[in-house]
This record gives sequence, structure tokens and C-alpha cells, in this order.
Amino acid sequence: MYELKWLLPGLAAIGVLVAAGQSFAADAEPPVPRFSLDYMDRSIDPGTDFYHYAAGNWLKQNPVPADKSRWGAFNELQQRNWFLIHQILDSATNPAVTSYPARMVGDFYRSALDTQRREELGLKPLQNDLNKIARLTSAKDLLQLLADFHSRGIGGLFNDGVSPDEKNSSVYAYEIWQGGLGLPDRDYYLKDEFSKQRIAYSNHVAKMFQLLGEPEADAETNAGTVLSLETELAKISKSRVDLRDPIANYHKMTVDSLATNYPELHLNAYLADSGLDAMPDLVVGQPEFLAGVDRLLLERPLADWKIYLRWNLLHGSAQYLNNAAETENFSFYGTVLSGQPAQEPRWQRAARVVDGGIGEALGQLYVEKYYPPAARARMNELVENVKDVFGDRLRKVDWMTEGTRAKALAKFGRFSQKIGYPDKFRDYSSITILPDDYLGNVRRVTMFESHREFVRVGKPVERAEWHMTPPTVNAYFNPSQNEIVFPAGILQPPFFDVTMDDAVNYGAIGVVIGHEITHGYDDQGRKYDADGNLNDWWTDADATAFEARAQKVVDQYSAYEILPGVHVNGRLTLGENIADLGGASVAYEALERALAKDPAKRKSIDGFTPEQRFFLSLSQIWRTNCREAEMVRLITVDVHSPGQFRAIGPHVNMQEFYDAFGIKQGAPMWRPVELRAKIW
Ligand SMILES: [Zn+2]
Repeated sequence: MYELKWLLPGLAAIGVLVAAGQSFAADAEPPVPRFSLDYMDRSIDPGTDFYHYAAGNWLKQNPVPADKSRWGAFNELQQRNWFLIHQILDSATNPAVTSYPARMVGDFYRSALDTQRREELGLKPLQNDLNKIARLTSAKDLLQLLADFHSRGIGGLFNDGVSPDEKNSSVYAYEIWQGGLGLPDRDYYLKDEFSKQRIAYSNHVAKMFQLLGEPEADAETNAGTVLSLETELAKISKSRVDLRDPIANYHKMTVDSLATNYPELHLNAYLADSGLDAMPDLVVGQPEFLAGVDRLLLERPLADWKIYLRWNLLHGSAQYLNNAAETENFSFYGTVLSGQPAQEPRWQRAARVVDGGIGEALGQLYVEKYYPPAARARMNELVENVKDVFGDRLRKVDWMTEGTRAKALAKFGRFSQKIGYPDKFRDYSSITILPDDYLGNVRRVTMFESHREFVRVGKPVERAEWHMTPPTVNAYFNPSQNEIVFPAGILQPPFFDVTMDDAVNYGAIGVVIGHEITHGYDDQGRKYDADGNLNDWWTDADATAFEARAQKVVDQYSAYEILPGVHVNGRLTLGENIADLGGASVAYEALERALAKDPAKRKSIDGFTPEQRFFLSLSQIWRTNCREAEMVRLITVDVHSPGQFRAIGPHVNMQEFYDAFGIKQGAPMWRPVELRAKIW
């Protein structure tokens, strides 16, 4: 349910912690988290608080495990997937395994688990890069070293990457995007309410410098320098809401103009060292950000930037070094920022890194064992059924003019889907993976990816490629390819469950399908045309009509309060909320069509009608317990609304929901008709 918009670092689908919990022994198979009436709290009136009615018992009985920051249906399923992956990883470490990809997966995993080797090495693996930083004598040197760092996954100053050109989606373009922050968002630097996190961050940076052997006083001064530089970067960064406008964040520039536009930034040297100097142009997301960086490079001495690079080197390496570095890193990013008391077990941390690094090698082993071929056929059928409803909606909505409708339908006709896993898995066999060199493995894997991306600038887009790994419990819409993608990992209970009735399935995976389709027509997706290009195909009147409908969604979610005084940002979450609303509405109609086609299916199960089970299933997939610090972080950075609001937000706009449970005007769940949103 997390759409993919940008392939740039930090802007791809929002990564959330979804995984196994400490509450399960490593060798105990977690139960299948399927739909259950036992999760309900029937002492609650559905018209008063439907979320707790549908999932109150589960919420009471399933506190967030110590090694997690939140816990819900996605996490429970991912928990099972990690459990299965753990078995795969363990067997891949068997010395008898010699063939690719199992051997590579096994060696990578072993390197992560070899804590003795990691302790022996300490922070020595950073020495070579520290020397390079010490030798810098100019801003040009700095940018050249940054090219090297970025290619190996060490951040700083800005983000860059390669993705389909937003205005010419058949060809890859190189893009530069704002970045360079160590805290989750610019708000953490600029707003009073984050002053505690800033102090903790400064302390953390100082502790990391001390691990390098810097005396305490120096380390604290240096941490102050990092915070002050990053605060300057935060000030020139756009807000996440402003980043949601794809047109305002697309600026094509010639490579030749960079030296004139940003003389201190030395992007030409950066691009030359990245092997990108032959391309004629690039896409700059935020030119004013680069102008600000250009100014800062002139204003701040090189000595400050060296400190900043040292911090980025530490930050981008800590979790692959010794216990002291890994623990200090976790204590800030896990405990302070997300409220998580304990780290995940080591095998699981390792599994995440293997999945993130060579995920299609691991995924190949995963689907061979755990993905039933029948799932793809059944899923195709469900997708077609939900698509049929959406297509009819496009033909019928009364607020679109005929010209725009024709273009909307032309785009819809080009929609495609991917299900399960890629037809061809990425071949990582050229990467050197050593069982005793964890950090080195991570660096080489990242370099492989950087190189793979950079060499294809200007070349045709590889449409068969996937942007999530097969075991991932998630799905995405890719606007430049006009496609929806469902990894094998999510095609299991509670989302996709062959043992359950249609109502439960349409309320879960049906809603996910409808959600991803709707993304093609949300506040961002609607700006891409049938070819996947940013191209305004809407008349002013249609755009105004859309905006008026979308405003109702903004108003609805902005009123939701997660903690006292902390509200959902209705603008930041608009695309996801529109997708949730569209998903629920079209999946409901798809269910009704299925029931009409086969009336024998229209029967109550365990006392609940199909319509009731649909809405219960939909609410249950969003059951979520979350730590307070994590709520604050997510409300700031996440384009998705918190689970408790996703569990009811669509319902209250649908009369069908009120009818299913006999909820009448005056009930707390009741939303007056004139306030209800309906877009698709
Ligand atoms: Zn989404």
C-alpha cells in the first residue's frame, strides 16, 4: 500500500519496520495471521467506535514487541516471511551449498553474523575513507569524494539516482534531489517541538565521533558543527507537502549549465567521477536547494565539511561495524526516534540487509519454496474484477467533462500489473561477497546497484524490472509505467486467503488492488498521462472539480488527532487517503458484483453478512499498535495516515457501511452526507 513515486534515495516507497518480534522464539513458526472474529471487541457498539469493535481484542492482546516500533497485520505477516527467510538463510550457510544464488546469500548472511570478526575489525574498515577525507583541499575534491561515497551508499549533501524521465518515461534520466540530513525531516531541525530530539541527535553524533577516538570536547564541538550545517540544509529544503507536486519538482538542466548555475558545487567533477559526464542533461528536483548548497560551500570552511563527511561516513557504516557502533546507532535511530527499547535479533537484522542488498537472489530462493503458482492466477482474476469496476467508474463519474474522461480511459486502457515476482531475477553473480567482510559486502552491493543505474542513463527503460523484493509485504503503483505491482510477500493471509470467503478477500487484497489502481488518479498520479509522462491532460474545470472533492478528504483527515495536539497532515497524506477511499469503494462494488453473479455466496457466516465481513476485514488489516515516538516520526514523514484512521477513514464516506451495520444519523461514526468524500 505504499506507492513508489521516486526512485531516488529517501523518496522511494516509505520503508516501515515490518518484521518478526521478540515475542516469538527464533525456531517457533508464527501463526498465520488470518482474518478472525476473535479480534473483535463486541462489547463496543460499531456505530460508536468501529475500529475497536473490529479489532479491539487484538489491540489489547498484542502490544508492540520490545524489538519493534509498531505492530499490526502487515508486521505479523512480515514476521512469518522473516521466519521462512530465516530457514532459507540458515540452509544457505551450509558448506555443501556451492551454487549461485544460495552460496552468495549464505556468505552475505554469514558475514553479518560473524560478530567476532566484526569486533576484531572495530572501526578499522573506515580508516581508508577517513584518510581520504583528511586529504581534501578544495570543494572540488569534496565533490569528487562525495561521488565515490554516494556510489558506495555513504550519504551527504544531496541525493541522486536514475529513474525514468518524468516527462519522457521510456528513457532513464539522472536526477538530483534535496538531501543530506541525518534527522528524519527538516521539521526536526526547525520546529520547537523537536528540540529534545535535536539535543539527543547532537549527543549521538558526539558519541559516534568518540568511537573514532576523538576526545569528548572535540567530539561535542564537531557534533555542533554537524548540527549547524544540517540545520542550514534543512532551511533550504522543501517541506514534504511541497515535494508532492511532481511538476514543481522537475527541472531539466543541461550538464553544461551546472558550472554557471552552481559554481562552488562542482557538479561537473562529481558527474565525471560518477561516469556521467557524457550525458547532455539531468533533472534537478529542487534548483533552489542546490543554489543554497552552492552558497553554503562558499560560506562554510572546508574544515566543517570534513567533519560533516566524517559523520556521514560513520552514519552510513555504523550498523555494519562492531557492537559499540551498531548499538550507539540503534540507541538513537531506534530508541530515541522510534521509541523502540530493543534491537531485533541479529539474524533478523542480517536478513533485512541481505534482502535490501541482493533481494532478488534471496527472493528467488523464497518464491521457489513458498509461492504457490496458483496464487498468480487467482490474483489476476481479482485484479481484473476490481479493474472492471474502476473502469466503469471512470465511464460514469458525473464531474468529468467528456474530453478529460476520454483521456482518463485511454490511460486506464494502458494499465498493467505484475504479480508475485519478476520473470527474470537480477543477476548479482559478478559481485564479490566474502563471508568475513560485512561492511565490504554492503559497499560492493551498493556499488553494483549504483553502476547498474548509472550506465543506463539515456537508455530505454527496462519495463520488466521490479522495485520491491518478492518477500515484501507491500505493493506499489509506478506512475511512469502506469503499473501496479504485488510482491509474493503480500499474497498471503490476511490479505489474500483462499480459505476465506469473497467478502474477507475483497475487504483485504481487493482493497489493496483498488488502492493501487486509484493511485493512478490521485492528486499526484492524475498528473501522469497514458504514456506515464508528467503532462497536464486535465481541463481547468475538471482539475477544479477534482480539487474540490479532494479537499473533503484533506479536511476529514486533518481533523484526526493521533496524540493530544498532534494531527494527521491531510495534505501530506492526501494521495494515500484518496487511494484508500477509492480502494474501499471499488472493492466493495467488486464484491457486490461477485455476489450477484453467484447468489449462493450471499450468505451470513458466523452471524455476519458479506457486507459486514467486508468492512470488518478492511478495518482489521489496519489494526496497529504503535509507540509514541514512532507516531510522532511517522506523522511527520509518512505519506500514509496512521492505521487507526486508515481503518475507518474510507468507511465513514460510504453509505454502504452505515447500512451494513445499521448505523444511524447521530451515531459518533456517522459523517454527515454533505461532508462525505467521493472521488472515484
Ligand atoms: Zn498507497
